[in-house]
Amino acid sequence: MSSKIIVAKFGGSSMADLTAMKRSATVSSDQHANVVVVSAVYGVTNLLISLAQNATKHDWENVEQVYNEIENKHFSILEEMKASDELQESVKALLSEAKTLARGMFLLKECSEKAYDSLVSLGERLSSTIFTEVVKGIYTTKKAQWFDIRRVMRTNDEYGKATPQIEEVEKLCNKYMIDCKYGDSVYVTQGFIGSTLDGMTTTLGRGGSDYSAALIAEGIGADILQIWTDVAGIATTDPRIVPQAKLLNEITYSEAAELATFGAKILHPTTLTPALRSNVQVFVGSSYEPNEPGTWIKTKTESTPLVRAMALRKGQSLLTLSTPKMLHSHGFLFEIFKVFNDYKISIDSITTSEISVAVTLDDSTLLNSKIIETLGTLCDVKVEEGLSLVSLIGNDINHTPKLAAKIFNSLDNINVRMICLGASKHNFCFLVKEAQANECIEKLHKEFIG
Ligand code: ADP
Ligand code: ASP
Ligand code: MG
Repeated sequence: MSSKIIVAKFGGSSMADLTAMKRSATVSSDQHANVVVVSAVYGVTNLLISLAQNATKHDWENVEQVYNEIENKHFSILEEMKASDELQESVKALLSEAKTLARGMFLLKECSEKAYDSLVSLGERLSSTIFTEVVKGIYTTKKAQWFDIRRVMRTNDEYGKATPQIEEVEKLCNKYMIDCKYGDSVYVTQGFIGSTLDGMTTTLGRGGSDYSAALIAEGIGADILQIWTDVAGIATTDPRIVPQAKLLNEITYSEAAELATFGAKILHPTTLTPALRSNVQVFVGSSYEPNEPGTWIKTKTESTPLVRAMALRKGQSLLTLSTPKMLHSHGFLFEIFKVFNDYKISIDSITTSEISVAVTLDDSTLLNSKIIETLGTLCDVKVEEGLSLVSLIGNDINHTPKLAAKIFNSLDNINVRMICLGASKHNFCFLVKEAQANECIEKLHKEFIG
């Protein structure tokens, strides 16, 4: 048996139904995983969000309909596996918690951030409860135990996108997770969710299970973090956009981190930080095709191609902030960045000229924010929505002669808005209209990867 300590994470598609769950349990058993971190059953997080939205809109008919869909997804797995009464009771108790929370939101016509996190956390709490029983039937060498990640995943109280408190998490992992590291137990636990010091449930943001798994790997001092998903590794671009995308056997941490930050959904952007910090090796593979080679993320790779991969980040807005006050003066950038800081809005890329500065943000950050109004008191603000950030990721991309010419020649009729080059030797990115974004990736892939 491998003596390596392994944390294996399975995403929603690896939890889609009983067949997928059994397949994932077999993979984790074959790998002798010490901890198995799971996402909600495929589609359930979206359904829970829709439950909250309908309840807040006081639309009970749709609440019931969405609730039934959530119930059916879980009940059909229970039926197929001929679940014990005890498991059925546990699942029913969690579902009834969802209904009670939705009822509260319906009556108040309001959904607090706390209530929202408690509700959406149920996706992972449900899937892990069922999956523990599936694992019990498959693991032969270890005893499967359901583990409540909230005992160790201590976060701050920024509900919806809480920040894990790394040192606390590590301390708590060493206190409560020793048995799965050295003993004969495999812990099955939840990605995505955490808990504040006073025991309130939080969530880490959409797609956050990858990050949870990386933090647990760091916390228990694991050797390997495995991310099992629905594609057999990291590819040269999203295979949904370019079906000919090639799977990569290896990629560096820096390249993979750029890829994730600039939109590749395969990894949550923060996943690699704990892994790199703690020297945990990271593997990405498919739970559907576990024998495929998959991708290893490494500090150093055999090849260092100019363009290794490309990513697309949709739903971007471009804000152009101009004022003559910027001319030969100082302090203006400080003032505007202070506004972004006050609104806790993160900027993805930026360029400046003598009297203006252009920044890109996720569209969603503008939805409930008065930031445009506040910025408007300091300068002229122009907002362009419906854009996508296209990135090429590779090596020495910031000082390779004629690369820009090659990129833009291959794009012929596509109008490029902002260009960012120079800050990272791994990334060259620019903005295009969302409607042309996929075509842009197709063209670049053909030109640089073939
Ligand atoms: P999970 O539910 O397992 O977390 P996700 O849907 O979050 O899975 O991520 C896997 C998806 O990421 C793939 O199905 C694929 O469409 C998308 N993806 C985006 N960019 C890439 C890439 N460069 N390589 C592989 N997959 C990618
Ligand atoms: N279930 C959560 C989501 O859909 C977290 C995850 O899957 O990583 O966002
Ligand atoms: Mg994911």
